[in-house]
Amino acid sequence: MSILCVGSVALDSVETPFGNADRVIGGSAVYFAAAATVFNPVQMVGVIGDDYPVDDLDFLSDRGADLAGIERASGDSFFWAGRYHYDLNTRDTLDTQLGVFADFEPKIPEQFRDARFVFLGNIDPALQHDVLDQVASPEVVACDTMNFWIEGARELLIELLGRVRILMVNDEEVRQLADEANLLKAARWVQEQGPEIVVVKKGEHGAILFGEDWIFYVPGYPLEEVFDPTGAGDSFAGGFMGHLARSGEVTPATLRRAMVYGSALGSFACERFSVERLKDLDTNDVLERVEEFRRLTAFETHLTAEQHV
Ligand code: AMP
Repeated sequence: MSILCVGSVALDSVETPFGNADRVIGGSAVYFAAAATVFNPVQMVGVIGDDYPVDDLDFLSDRGADLAGIERASGDSFFWAGRYHYDLNTRDTLDTQLGVFADFEPKIPEQFRDARFVFLGNIDPALQHDVLDQVASPEVVACDTMNFWIEGARELLIELLGRVRILMVNDEEVRQLADEANLLKAARWVQEQGPEIVVVKKGEHGAILFGEDWIFYVPGYPLEEVFDPTGAGDSFAGGFMGHLARSGEVTPATLRRAMVYGSALGSFACERFSVERLKDLDTNDVLERVEEFRRLTAFETHLTAEQHV
């Protein structure tokens, strides 16, 4: 079942302690689609300027992404520049240029309008609303955002939460959004605004899912070499939604597995700059990593009382 996804289609300049990448393809929609299409077709909505290397998106169409919703406008593409600190867990945004996204009015192609699964990638909340307005009856709407929008478009964002079933953000973002330092309380605050599920990503430390009355935790995959964490969050979302859409239902069991697929895809994204590692991924690579997650976290519980002490 196809997932409709809207988000930034960007050019990124990234500095890490291990090297630099200059104006490489990125953006929330691109990372999401690169991860989700390992399992599932994706319908993409976004805008690129006339400086965008369109051919670099061919691997997405080859893998089942429908790019009919990617508009080409005259002007510069969305541009983001960031620099990572030594531990790669923290980064500074050096520049954000909205470019053609500033005047973007999403027009959802007719054939995308009956989508059941929708991912509203990190982008202006006004555009996230616009997209939802054009989808007939979405059943599973997940949404991401970031500090840029929490600060700049707070009211629209909170209004959007009322239309969303799953919010996926990082720990810093959920604290900022809820104005609450405690993660559990912050997640509960978000749930009061609408979403039934809140997924809080914690970089290399994994992610926590807060359901109505249950919580599930998945670790980050212990990678020997983390090269560039850009897009790990969007790739997590791609793996997560890819699994949900493929299974066709949202239950505690599919959500738990989706967390593991999300963490697996997020880890692959960190292994190279841009989408390089995601490009050559296949289902087997993912299944192997998912199996490693099982080994990483499995333990025996059927001990006798004597064995416990
Ligand atoms: P992540 O590392 O998962 O948070 O995602 C990084 C991606 O988000 C980069 O490829 C950027 O192009 C994109 N990005 C950064 N800032 C913004 C923003 N304000 N709106 C939309 N996309 C953004």
